[in-house]
Amino acid sequence: MAVPELIIDPGHGGRDPGGGSNEYWLEKDMVLDISLYQYKRFQELGVPVALTRNSDVYLGPDERTRIVRESGAKYCISNHINAGGGDGVETIHSIYVDGTLARALAMGIVNEGQNLRRVFSRSLPSDSSKDYYYMHRETGSVDTTIIEYGFADSSRDDVEQLRNNWRDYAEGVVKAYCEYMGHAYTPPGEEDTMKYRLVTGTFPNAIKFAEALQKVRSEFSWVIYEKADSTNFNPRYRIVTGTFTGRASAERAAEQLKQKFGWVVYIQEA
Ligand SMILES: [Zn+2]
Repeated sequence: MAVPELIIDPGHGGRDPGGGSNEYWLEKDMVLDISLYQYKRFQELGVPVALTRNSDVYLGPDERTRIVRESGAKYCISNHINAGGGDGVETIHSIYVDGTLARALAMGIVNEGQNLRRVFSRSLPSDSSKDYYYMHRETGSVDTTIIEYGFADSSRDDVEQLRNNWRDYAEGVVKAYCEYMGHAYTPPGEEDTMKYRLVTGTFPNAIKFAEALQKVRSEFSWVIYEKADSTNFNPRYRIVTGTFTGRASAERAAEQLKQKFGWVVYIQEA
């Protein structure tokens, strides 16, 4: 399994329903739905992704932040529903980042029809060098953004919006994240079902080729075909992968190969 780039954290769970609950939903269920939707979409788009929980289980702060820290992910999105009578989306970033990603994610939801309340960071009143929220303070070097999609007790339109449009808001975050990271993005329902395979440039001899094969096999679980097209005296050693569905996932895999090993990689229709 590739190391995830992103880990999605559905807030609360199990005996902790979350404060962003009302007569229509419990926060823990709403944010699990949002998170599972995003998890599936990121997988479709070829973005290596993980979850802190994928069912209705309780995670305490220590366990939750340990899972995030040990995931290997660079980014974490922690999904929540707000309470307190306001209206609109809020995103919260660490005091140690400039908030560009948090703003982009908020605007992704705004582009789907929600209104913007604020993008902010907050430090501990007792120690201004520490983040107020444990999801920032205790997640190490992972860049965590807390997203509050709207208010469960809004006197304005948030309750209706969240009931009707939560999938759109979840998708807005997927799209904004891909744009921020420079990942290829295709809207849902327009999934690219074309098959692609990766083909490397040629390796100069059988020994280099064998070494290269071993590297790929130790890092990735892809199906790999060895390929030595020989024209008798001039064998061409290349690595050919099994198929990837969709251009985006093939591009993502090609990028991983280039970054890890510095190889030339071609994407071919399979
Ligand atoms: Zn919450």
